[in-house]
Amino acid sequence: MKRSKGMQLGAMLLIFLVSASVPVSAYYYSGYRWLGASASYNWDSSTPSDWHSSVNNAANTWSNAGSQFRFSESSSSLNKIYKGSLGSSGPIAQTATNSLLSKLIYASITFNSDYTWSTSGQSGSFDVQNTATHEFGHWLQLGDLSCGYDSEKTMYAYESTGETKKRSLETDDIDGIKYIYGV
Ligand SMILES: [Zn+2]
Repeated sequence: MKRSKGMQLGAMLLIFLVSASVPVSAYYYSGYRWLGASASYNWDSSTPSDWHSSVNNAANTWSNAGSQFRFSESSSSLNKIYKGSLGSSGPIAQTATNSLLSKLIYASITFNSDYTWSTSGQSGSFDVQNTATHEFGHWLQLGDLSCGYDSEKTMYAYESTGETKKRSLETDDIDGIKYIYGV
């Protein structure tokens, strides 16, 4: 009895994995979203002012991707952009979100101040716009992709110094935001 139940469960799990494998290879979506297809952000004082245009460019890239979703910079926003220590072997940057009933109510980005940064794709430094575009993808609830064939996408999990290719979205990144927020 127990054994046949277990086998049934195994078969169901296998079917689920097979059917879920198609969207996962294109983009990953958590199932959460912003209620109004929009989110604002504001600067914490730890973020250098000469980074603002790079972060704005990253937000605008997603706003202009062809979906209903819009980012906006707002001095009254509680969603903050920080530069702070995440450790010398920690993540390059980190997005934090809070949600209520699967709707996002808060998000932040922290750029790791233990690494060196550039706004011009300088070799040896992480590029602010490159990183911000990826992190704003997490605000939208697109997840990290880590397969080799995902390496050109903005939501690819790994980043090199001097890299700028995540500044522009690939088809799968665009399909992701369109799927979540509509066109
Ligand atoms: Zn990521």
